[in-house]
Amino acid sequence: MPNVDKAPETLLEAVLYFADEEVALAFVANLRWPEGEQTCPKCGSVNSHYFLKTRKVWKCKDCKKQFSVKVGTIFEDSAIPLSKWLPSLWMLVNCKNGISSYELGRAIGVTQKSAWFMLHRIRLAMQSDSFSKMGGDVEVDETYIGGKARFMHKAKKERVIQGETGWKGKTPVMGILERGDDEKPSQVRTQVVSGNSGEILDPIVRENVEKGANVFTDALGAYAKLRDEYKHEVIDHAVAYAEGKVHTNGLENFWSLLKRSIKGTYVSIEPFHLFRYLDEQSFRYNNRKDTDRGRFLNAAMSILGKRLTYSELIGSQLSKI
Ligand SMILES: [Zn+2]
Repeated sequence: MPNVDKAPETLLEAVLYFADEEVALAFVANLRWPEGEQTCPKCGSVNSHYFLKTRKVWKCKDCKKQFSVKVGTIFEDSAIPLSKWLPSLWMLVNCKNGISSYELGRAIGVTQKSAWFMLHRIRLAMQSDSFSKMGGDVEVDETYIGGKARFMHKAKKERVIQGETGWKGKTPVMGILERGDDEKPSQVRTQVVSGNSGEILDPIVRENVEKGANVFTDALGAYAKLRDEYKHEVIDHAVAYAEGKVHTNGLENFWSLLKRSIKGTYVSIEPFHLFRYLDEQSFRYNNRKDTDRGRFLNAAMSILGKRLTYSELIGSQLSKI
């Protein structure tokens, strides 16, 4: 745990606090090496180095290589200073509808292209790494994102419409929501899926939900087999939206938040990158009861081991900046 007591509480405080590059560096160093044992990322030797103040890097006494605090984090190889990175992280985790690369670029003084790249790296830190199964009362539902086909370039239009999705330009997304209580708010997991058949959706439920849980879905046939291991109850939306606790209103609410962000802030998203926006929205939703500082620290502690290079980011024909 980093210096939580010193961590800022508001965006304004964050901007001021991290404006001092040395403070920002110490903050990230604390996240990386919370026990104070700095490990050389090149040779693994511990606490055998000295700090080159002018270059803000450490030099290892054993392998003689230099390393910066950014190595192995989402900030690696970035020339953008931490004084810009950390407030950007603050904004993305705390702005309810997200922040576009245009807005961020103007706010911190980098190009839109750089801001776009930064935001995608920050989304990596917002990715959930929870592998435990959900239980209790669980909602399962799907939605479809996208579909402004008439504005698309012709080649892309053909590819999207006839190609991978078959959903007339929309990308199917599946959501699973574990209902919460007073202490823990409901938690959501989402993923992009290739269709809405039972072969696709059924195994995802089984991977994520423990046997015996109450599972609430709509009348989609894909979920028909779930009753062998679950207490599966169906709400037929043609008839009613809720019957007692049999409903998917928690997920409906999440979908509307997601669509509001996408429409209002991001306008259009390449299907290839959609999962990153799902990570972003799910993070804010799952941590919605936390403070701004809490959300910031939560994501900041996940900056390690989540590097995303430019070529990986645009490693698809589908994507363009
Ligand atoms: Zn070394």
